[in-house]
Amino acid sequence: MTEMIQCVGCGAIIQTTEVDEAGYLPESALRKGLEKGTLYCQRCFRLRHYNELKDLNISDDVFLNRLSEIAEDKAFVVSIIDIFDVEGSLIHGLPRFIGNQPFIVFVNKVDLLPKSTNLKRVEHWIRRILKENGLFPNDVILGSASKNHTLAALRTVIEKESKHRNVYIVGVTNVGKSTLINNLIAYYGGEKEVITTSNHPGTTLDMIRVPVNEQYAIIDTPGIIHRTQLGLHLNREELKMVLPSKLMKPTTFQLNPNQTIFIGGIARVDFNKGERTSFTFYVSNDMYLHRTKTENADGFYQAHIGELLQPPFKENVDSFGTLSPRTIQLKADQDIAISGLGWFTVNQDVEIVLWIPKGVGISIRESII
Ligand code: GDP
Repeated sequence: MTEMIQCVGCGAIIQTTEVDEAGYLPESALRKGLEKGTLYCQRCFRLRHYNELKDLNISDDVFLNRLSEIAEDKAFVVSIIDIFDVEGSLIHGLPRFIGNQPFIVFVNKVDLLPKSTNLKRVEHWIRRILKENGLFPNDVILGSASKNHTLAALRTVIEKESKHRNVYIVGVTNVGKSTLINNLIAYYGGEKEVITTSNHPGTTLDMIRVPVNEQYAIIDTPGIIHRTQLGLHLNREELKMVLPSKLMKPTTFQLNPNQTIFIGGIARVDFNKGERTSFTFYVSNDMYLHRTKTENADGFYQAHIGELLQPPFKENVDSFGTLSPRTIQLKADQDIAISGLGWFTVNQDVEIVLWIPKGVGISIRESII
């Protein structure tokens, strides 16, 4: 191929020789696509039509190296994080990659929080986590990539900054970066829905430019795969169950000590010590919550993991691994957020043992409801 053609889904350069590399498209499909005028690489085509994902030989280093290009440009950075996976979605080394470029944090998927959520407290909590991780953004903006009317504040910043520089959108996979870019493309007059969105990490492969004015553009960067996300313990179908996708309905249990709640097969909460307490869970409506006696919990888990307690699904129980316990003191009206899954809150001081997959982050905060 002489001319470089980009996939309209992920931005990778289309090529017809390396099946396992980014941008692959069989020669015949390339010809057909050229006639039609829109070209998706095979990977994006499959993702769009069959929601099927092919793993690619691309390392995190390649992704991260692409980010360091930002440091050399006149740039402003919008770092997207997921309200349900703050720990898992913030980019710890951001200042290292972007140098001294100014940045803001856009907190996505706020539409899924219950209506009674105190957004000031959410923002306060997020600022605390950012600070704990050495991140000092110019601003923190809450919104929803999929809801245009929540994006006004973000667009104001983008329009102001793009007078002087390019606006780079960065984020780990699954934070909703493609959804946001698609929305910005639609808003700034481009073709609608040109970027692939999916439930699977690793959708966006290469940089895509969305011109905002004559000189500067919004630039989409590759999604960085983050290994501590709960999503990486699960396959696409399992992830669909776990990730909240509709407005959350809280579920409350009145518990006595020595009772246990399972959150599917992903997490287990043993109520160790305290007075009778109400535990309120905010997780995907598709997750099954099961109460049992703590003394029976091990046996119950062994008997029902992969079936009643899922995800993981039965065929993935072995690869999912085991849950690791951690003893935690929670105060009345504190939440404990489990990255990628949601959170729960208690109305009394309690001691619990929380069992979650290794590497999944947790954070304790003042209750946001
Ligand atoms: P990317 O990997 O960062 O590009 O993420 P995607 O844009 O593919 O989004 C990942 C998943 O989150 C998809 O299922 C989206 O529909 C969903 N999603 C993205 N943004 C929002 C949002 O603001 N609200 C809700 N409810 N879902 C969102």
